[in-house]
Amino acid sequence: MISVRNLKKAFKGSEVLKGIDLDVAPGEVVAIIGPSGSGKTTLLRCLNLLEEPSGGKIRVGAIEIDADRPLKGQSGLIRKLRQHVGFVFQSFNLFPHRTVLENVIEGPVQVKKEARAQAVERARALLAKVGLAGREDAWPRRLSGGQQQRVAIARALAMQPDVILFDEPTSALDPELVGEVLATIRDLAEEKRTMVIVTHEMSFARDVADRAIFIDHGVIVEQGEARALFSAPREERTRQFLSKFL
Ligand code: ADP
Repeated sequence: MISVRNLKKAFKGSEVLKGIDLDVAPGEVVAIIGPSGSGKTTLLRCLNLLEEPSGGKIRVGAIEIDADRPLKGQSGLIRKLRQHVGFVFQSFNLFPHRTVLENVIEGPVQVKKEARAQAVERARALLAKVGLAGREDAWPRRLSGGQQQRVAIARALAMQPDVILFDEPTSALDPELVGEVLATIRDLAEEKRTMVIVTHEMSFARDVADRAIFIDHGVIVEQGEARALFSAPREERTRQFLSKFL
């Protein structure tokens, strides 16, 4: 579903991603872990071109972006790729002046030109699925952080993406609200949705992800079946990192 080759990203000459190769199979849940500043968020943002890579190739389904060439000529492809890749931000990023329902139908109606009635019907079903039936007309600011993040997940799902990328989806939440968002993501994993999740929730990553990838200083140090990586890391750097969470 996703294939990344030699992905590089530099900010002002300093290389933050140093040639990442990454494959994600359909239905696979991949957790990306690693120290702060190691490049996890940058990697995720490069995957849907929220951040412009300095080089490399990114394929999602049948759409291929060649970041070794100028991206200007590939803007149509990039738009198409974004329609297939959902993104859930750390800080929810809901439209504050739109109701919950309007937030969820925005993409389908404005970007995919879906009929409003159909978009509304799907939005209601998705809101019910994330435990927010009855909150369609609420304003985002009236909701808790956990509820806002669940709206953001429903909004991503409304585009019927092939892949959903989660960028530290619980790190902006009060501790008592983390569980409800993780439970929602766990439900999606059980439906075998393809997801890539940057997270600091190690027990969640171990239990829910099929595969875990440990990144440090812009390189993949180690990856493997999630349970194995957490219980018996092969690399010393991974061991050191994980030992901080015990
Ligand atoms: P992580 O998600 O692992 O904490 P990030 O991907 O956010 O790491 O950041 C990796 C490195 O890239 C950090 O050193 C960070 O300061 C730098 N960085 C990230 N975004 C930018 C940016 N927009 N401009 C300059 N430097 C950035």
